[in-house]
Amino acid sequence: MPPALALTPTSPRGRLRQVWPFLATFALALALSLLSAPGHGDRPALIAAGLLTIAVGTAVLLVPWPRASDWWTLAPVVAVGLIVHLLRAASGSGTSAGYTSLLLLPVVWQALHRRPPVLFASIAAVTTTNLAGLLLLDSPVSLAAQWRSLILFAVTALGVGLTVNRLSRERTDLLEQVARLATHDPLTGLHNRRGWEQLALAAALVDLTRPTTVAMLDLDRFKAYNDEHGHDRGDQLLVASAEAWRGVVRDDDLLVRWGGEEFALLLPGTDAATAELVLGRLQAAMPAGQTFSAGLATYRPAAEPDRADLAEALERADAALYRSKRDGRARITHADAGPDRSLGRRR
Ligand code: GH3
Ligand code: MG
Ligand code: MG
Repeated sequence: MPPALALTPTSPRGRLRQVWPFLATFALALALSLLSAPGHGDRPALIAAGLLTIAVGTAVLLVPWPRASDWWTLAPVVAVGLIVHLLRAASGSGTSAGYTSLLLLPVVWQALHRRPPVLFASIAAVTTTNLAGLLLLDSPVSLAAQWRSLILFAVTALGVGLTVNRLSRERTDLLEQVARLATHDPLTGLHNRRGWEQLALAAALVDLTRPTTVAMLDLDRFKAYNDEHGHDRGDQLLVASAEAWRGVVRDDDLLVRWGGEEFALLLPGTDAATAELVLGRLQAAMPAGQTFSAGLATYRPAAEPDRADLAEALERADAALYRSKRDGRARITHADAGPDRSLGRRR
């Protein structure tokens, strides 16, 4: 099932909305670097830092966002470490130039989007770059004085990273729960009508070599069943029916609770005759001797997703269901069959 709520933006514009605070901070750091060391700094280092910032920013905006477990995302983290190193070198004042806090930005970024192993590796990478800067740029005297800030940086990066990571994973879990609640029927566990809206079109495109069939099913005289056995037993019958049908349909089929005692079924790559066999098996699997009536309609999905085609087929299936009811229930009617040619099937 595709995610119901987009957790990560897919367009460059959506990505820009998320990364602009990070990019703006680096732009500010570059501007400050230009302002603070106009003549005395190391200009090639500053130019290199600028070019690297542009390269990393462009890559983040244009390259599709990687998965949470992708180790190659350590490359931009190391690049940020290098940018900070170059800015420090350009300033001429080593690790005391004030750029160290920039190293927290890739940690926050990885904490938002990556799993803990990649996050830990990212924290190790920025801590190592920080240490390397100290060893490469600073005098032995300041090195001895800075071990405390090195340790504090590493611990802060760890604390910030773990906190953001936990919040991010909680948010992802919540969104997944919301998506599941919104698209599933709590009683039967089947998808609901909203789930159908999200999935049916994609399901219809699974097999374009053959027609696809949609069916509407409605339990017969279910009100009487409730009246006779009680609402709880009625609920149990709905649950047992869904459970039994799950064992009959294929993984590519889409069975949803449309509402009340009505269900919709999409059978990709299935012609009317085969769909009738499937519905016959569903009928046979019904518990407690209960029956349903069904209407089915067949259509050929276009290679391009077309919601109107599917909706039209569903409407025809619904009309055929109405004819099944009218003609005596416990039967399957094909939308294309004439009024007197109901494909009756009594059990
Ligand atoms: P028909 O054969 O014409 O479909 O008759 P019917 O009684 O099945 O249809 P009707 O539309 O008259 O009644 C539907 C019944 O389904 C009434 C309602 O109480 C029951 N129903 C709908 N949703 C639920 C549910 O979640 N649980 C239970 N137990 N009953 C439900
Ligand atoms: Mg009904
Ligand atoms: Mg009914």
